[in-house]
Amino acid sequence: MRSLAKSNQHFRKAITKLPLGVSSNFRYWGDDKTIYVKRGKGARLWDIDDNEYIDYRLAYGPAILGYADSRVDDAARAGIEVGGVFALGTELEYEVAAKISAMVPAAELVRFSNSGTEAVMAALRIARAFTGKDGHIILEGGYHGLFTEVLWYTEVEDWKPQDGAPEVLPYGEGVPELMKPLFHAVPLNDANAVEDVLKKNHQDIGAFLIEPIMGNCCGLTATAEYLADVRALCDKYNVVLIVDEVKTGFRVAKGGVQELLGVKSDICTFAKALGNGYPISVVAGREEIMRKVGDGVVHGGTFTAHSVALAAANKTLQILDETDALATIQKYGEDLQAGLSGILTQRGIEHSFVGHPSMMGLFFSEKAPVDYRDWVNTNYEFYDSLAPELHELGILVEPDSREPWFMCEAHDVKCLAETLDKFETAVDITIRKQNIKKGCAQSV
Ligand code: PMP
Repeated sequence: MRSLAKSNQHFRKAITKLPLGVSSNFRYWGDDKTIYVKRGKGARLWDIDDNEYIDYRLAYGPAILGYADSRVDDAARAGIEVGGVFALGTELEYEVAAKISAMVPAAELVRFSNSGTEAVMAALRIARAFTGKDGHIILEGGYHGLFTEVLWYTEVEDWKPQDGAPEVLPYGEGVPELMKPLFHAVPLNDANAVEDVLKKNHQDIGAFLIEPIMGNCCGLTATAEYLADVRALCDKYNVVLIVDEVKTGFRVAKGGVQELLGVKSDICTFAKALGNGYPISVVAGREEIMRKVGDGVVHGGTFTAHSVALAAANKTLQILDETDALATIQKYGEDLQAGLSGILTQRGIEHSFVGHPSMMGLFFSEKAPVDYRDWVNTNYEFYDSLAPELHELGILVEPDSREPWFMCEAHDVKCLAETLDKFETAVDITIRKQNIKKGCAQSV
């Protein structure tokens, strides 16, 4: 059994100064389950109890090459020598912007920010300014950061099809109710639902904000036809199509999900993989729209285009563009899926994968869910029971099946063999525990 004695002890100290003992609510896994990290290297990390994990969370995606990649870290060290931030620009901003434009044709003009939240916040502001319309459409199950315009979700866990559209609720307290009318939710892959919303409300809707491979919702994936329909509807109703590539960007293809699924956004946002873990993000888009920045729209920030993060991004992009790193990552994901599938099939467990091999959702249902409402029909209880067993054995996956597994270049054959071996053990333990539970229930 893994010991979390030091993490537990640290938690009791941390909670006295930090709400939930951490700096992001999602890092709190329970008073006796919250892990504190000592260090990460490649595809592995070690906690303060010296437990070793093969990591498939990768900070929700940033470590595309692996933790502490020496090529990127050397570049970041050179960035330190530049001096930080100056409340003035540096030449490297142009160079990195040009690299992004070359890799992503929709990114004609580029602005840097620090986090995904900031980039998406800017994207919506630019879209509102360009169209003169304040509302936006988001997919059910979509997540786009921690700001009030998008902190709304559709409740599907207790939802039944006969109830009509699922209820829209704020993500917790402190989200002003007055933001709610700006928000319109539609199910994925249903272009008619988009048209209905636009027919009724197009005078008020300036943006469709979409993550075509839903990195916060199981990796659910838009079909190419749906994206083509959405593109046409946005053009018809003067709506800016914002493709949020915070997770998919520089991961699922060199040109991101736009290249993979053949859609061109008006505005797109990038963060995570862009800097291999250094805090940097991008809002980019069509020149005509992006020129609103500085011509009516305010954008900036004290730490934007910080010399360390910018140098790291420059190197990361160079590696992703000039080497076969992404092909390596994809192949690892495919091999992993094949291995997991073999283990599950042997035991007669129905399963499916969605998303991209570099960020995949694993489901316990024969048919993969097609939208968030459909996720309820998967056996997510099995996933919820399996994930803690994997943690015990040193395989770090997200406890919630809605968050995909992430691959990086540093995942190698050794990781694969070890993962499959431990996955097999974890599945058997989960089945055994479930059978015992069932047996107990029957004997009551
Ligand atoms: N958009 C998407 C698609 C994301 O996945 C996230 C973060 N998970 C964000 C925006 C917000 O990014 P950040 O956490 O860097 O603010």
